[in-house]
Amino acid sequence: MSFLDKYVEFLGKYLKYYSNPCCTNLKDKTQSKAKAVYVHSNEVADFSYGSSHPMRPARLGMTLALTKELGLLDPSNTELIEGRKTTEEEVLSFHTEEYLKALKEANSGEAPINGSAFGLGAGDNPAFKGVYDWSLFSAGSSVTCAEVILEGKAERAMNISGGLHHAMADRASGFCYINDPVIAINKLLDAGKRVAYIDIDAHHGDGVEAAYFETDKVLTVSIHESGRYLFPGTGFSKDIGSGKGEGYSVNLPLPPGADDYVFCSAFDAIVPKCIEAFRPDVLVTQLGVDTLASDPVTHLMLTTNGFEYMVKSFSEMDLPWIALGGGGYDMDNVKRAWTLAWAIMAEASVPDHIRDPEITPDKKSHEMFSSITADIDYLLTKVIPLIKTS
Ligand SMILES: [Zn+2]
Repeated sequence: MSFLDKYVEFLGKYLKYYSNPCCTNLKDKTQSKAKAVYVHSNEVADFSYGSSHPMRPARLGMTLALTKELGLLDPSNTELIEGRKTTEEEVLSFHTEEYLKALKEANSGEAPINGSAFGLGAGDNPAFKGVYDWSLFSAGSSVTCAEVILEGKAERAMNISGGLHHAMADRASGFCYINDPVIAINKLLDAGKRVAYIDIDAHHGDGVEAAYFETDKVLTVSIHESGRYLFPGTGFSKDIGSGKGEGYSVNLPLPPGADDYVFCSAFDAIVPKCIEAFRPDVLVTQLGVDTLASDPVTHLMLTTNGFEYMVKSFSEMDLPWIALGGGGYDMDNVKRAWTLAWAIMAEASVPDHIRDPEITPDKKSHEMFSSITADIDYLLTKVIPLIKTS
């Protein structure tokens, strides 16, 4: 079935079902629903990267407020739990001691003298007051998600303050200081789990990919706006991992202007096959929403419908699932999209008014998708066949 057929079915059945609470018998439904935990630290929304910086931690408080307003934390299969700061030991499972020391110094609000060597200072990664604390909270909530899954307390856990996928072992990058997806995945690896990390942010998930480029223990898949047009300039289809990790880094770059049809068709073409080939124990998804058409930083044209379609696909994989946030710089749209994501995790009803209107794909959408079929063919014939089940 093509993406378009599936999308029409999705809009026709799924959205109607989920938008009409009268159709659901909550008691009976709840009994068969997965337990979903929303991890949030009260402190995170109060940090500020600076008044002119696009990254606004305030979006986290706005999302939680909308989630509560819509009653999405009320069902008995859901729970709101307080995240914690990650420990230095956990951070050092990926980052270097030298970088951590510099980040700690930057917590005062002043970049250390050698800050630029660690990506800290003016520009993308300001040394704002509390930057170290912010990063520990963001990463700690992702580790809490991993713990919740490992301890069997829930099948699904979300931390939208996480997903800071650009941070490298020895430096801050792209608004990201501590790579919380990696810290959380390392926790899962320590427990012997095989992890698939799927990243649908507008930007290439370069930091997470770098962490696992040479291993077959973690499969990383990133679908993003092409590095020819957007930071960080990486993530091409021929970047497939190396050594034991060959085939375990999967990248599909999209042209600027890619809409729901293009992004979701690309997703459908490769993601289910990657999961089928790898058979992970745990799914970790980075749900950046800087893909939305209104986003001021990128050039993609998604609506919440395309985003919701992919999140629902994750839900249908029926795996233990950690969902992290990521980019997203139009705060009103970010809070709607992430609230929808949480509703899908919680298998709850939401009113239609927080969704975007449906956009029908046009000739341009089809032409744009044709422009990436060579990359898709390459992934399907040369890369995904390298992925082994164990
Ligand atoms: Zn991004």
